[in-house]
Amino acid sequence: MTKRTITCIICPRGCSVDVEINGEDISVSGNSCPRGEKYALDECTHPMRTVTSTVRVSNREDTMVSVKTADPIPKENIRDIMDMIHKTEIKAPVRIGDRIISDICGTNVVATKSID
Ligand code: SF4
Repeated sequence: MTKRTITCIICPRGCSVDVEINGEDISVSGNSCPRGEKYALDECTHPMRTVTSTVRVSNREDTMVSVKTADPIPKENIRDIMDMIHKTEIKAPVRIGDRIISDICGTNVVATKSID
């Protein structure tokens, strides 16, 4: 049996949610609402993360543009996406929401800042 305690981050209440996994049997307790149960189950079975980083702007001196994944990605793919982000350079101008990297780990990487 595996036991984990997860702090739910869905709302500011921050419930401490206990998850017990025994083969196919999974029990969740300590959550104050169903969203906490889903969050804790997802964290234990397929954790997802939104990745944030920066990409170099090649035609502006010492300039980086902040980026993020448009959707959460599986936690085990973070290294792959960070490697691709670090290899990427773009040219200004760039607008918030512009697609910087397409179709990576089931999502896109988009700009979160505009640079003229
Ligand atoms: S379990 Fe519900 S009430 Fe508790 S932190 Fe999560 S979302 Fe908020």
